[in-house]
Amino acid sequence: MSDWIERDATRVWHGFTQMATFALSEPVIVDRAEGRELIDSEGGRYLDAISSLWVTTLGHRVPDLDAALTDQLGKVAHTTLLGNGNRAVVELCEALARVVPIKDPHFLFASDGASAVEQALKCAVQYWRNIGLDQKSGFLALRDAYHGDTIGALSLGDGFHSEHFDQLRFPVIRSSGYASPGWAEETCSLVAANAERLAAVVIEPLVQAAGGMRIANPEDVRMLAECCRGNEVLLICDEVATGFGRTGSLFASRRCGIQPDLLVLGKGLTGGYLPMSATVASGRVFLTFMGEDLGDRTFYHGHSYGGNALAAAVASRHLELLAEWNVLANVEARSEELGRLLSKRIAPLREVTDVRLCGLLGGVELASWISTRAVCAEAVRRGVLLRSLGQVVPLVPPLTITSDELERIVSALEQAIAAVSENGAHAQ
Ligand SMILES: *Cc1c(COP(=O)(O)O)cnc(C)c1O
Repeated sequence: MSDWIERDATRVWHGFTQMATFALSEPVIVDRAEGRELIDSEGGRYLDAISSLWVTTLGHRVPDLDAALTDQLGKVAHTTLLGNGNRAVVELCEALARVVPIKDPHFLFASDGASAVEQALKCAVQYWRNIGLDQKSGFLALRDAYHGDTIGALSLGDGFHSEHFDQLRFPVIRSSGYASPGWAEETCSLVAANAERLAAVVIEPLVQAAGGMRIANPEDVRMLAECCRGNEVLLICDEVATGFGRTGSLFASRRCGIQPDLLVLGKGLTGGYLPMSATVASGRVFLTFMGEDLGDRTFYHGHSYGGNALAAAVASRHLELLAEWNVLANVEARSEELGRLLSKRIAPLREVTDVRLCGLLGGVELASWISTRAVCAEAVRRGVLLRSLGQVVPLVPPLTITSDELERIVSALEQAIAAVSENGAHAQ
């Protein structure tokens, strides 16, 4: 076992990881990266086929992003957004305002997706208080939803052993998720029946990512958005996973033809460089918060690092690069290619029960008798970093992935499935 694994296992507590078996699972301890490859302390190379948990959009060590960061370092790293501002943040908000699928957007920053979800929940509840409808304080969320791990986000979520924290979670109205045909009709009737007590419906538009890469029909999402509008219930779109080109359009809401009242951004916002998230409020929501200084209408919420200047500078440059490099065209072309490779070489395997892909957000579902954990470990041995999600092997490569690299990912996965199947490894 490498010295670094031992030192890591002695002191680091990894999220969503059983530490008793961590060191035995041959973890990759990254030393540096080049493009889309991670390099460990022994010089081993791994194609980052999960974009470092879905955040790395353009690859690692992008010279233009590195330069944006060092330029900003020459000015200032961080200043507070509470009561004061920063040029880097103003510029970012102006640039984002031109592209987000929301009317007259206003940006409230945090550091993680989960915190931005919390902000959206609090905004929704206070919005109704601001207009004198205090009883509208409940939320509706879908089965297989994932919105993060803080208490509010966990209350909306479904699964992931969240039952440990049931005493902390607040109740939500739960409707079927994208895996059930008819989910939209069911959700609409629940919205209509509970409109008087609902503050908002929270969805991951188009794809429920962590819930197993479940893909919705865009028309169904639009139907739900119209139903929310018709019943005076706010719609919160959590685009932490789907935002910034992941599904083939800059935002999935746009693909569905909807404009939410609140939008949540995270993950790809800084191209995977720095932790930054944002809650975007429409003018309709934002304006109800106007009032007297120190008065009741103020939004009493803020994070120490919200609107970090380094993150803002990288995020602005990242947004420019998405356009300059025509990244969405690459997502479309590579998505088609990946789809073809998967239907030809992965979907027919007897170990595979389903293959799902939307843009470059995909998942291969394996039969319950095969261990996805073991399959991912075999892929890592073949130089492709994958991490399982229940019975699904997520395929979430950087948006700048090449045809050769896709071939490498699919080959490694194919060989990994064969290796585990031959060894007779069973699901744990
Ligand atoms: C990852 C994710 C989150 C949580 O973001 P963190 O930065 O991990 O807190 C929230 N919503 C969705 C849809 C996500 O995929």
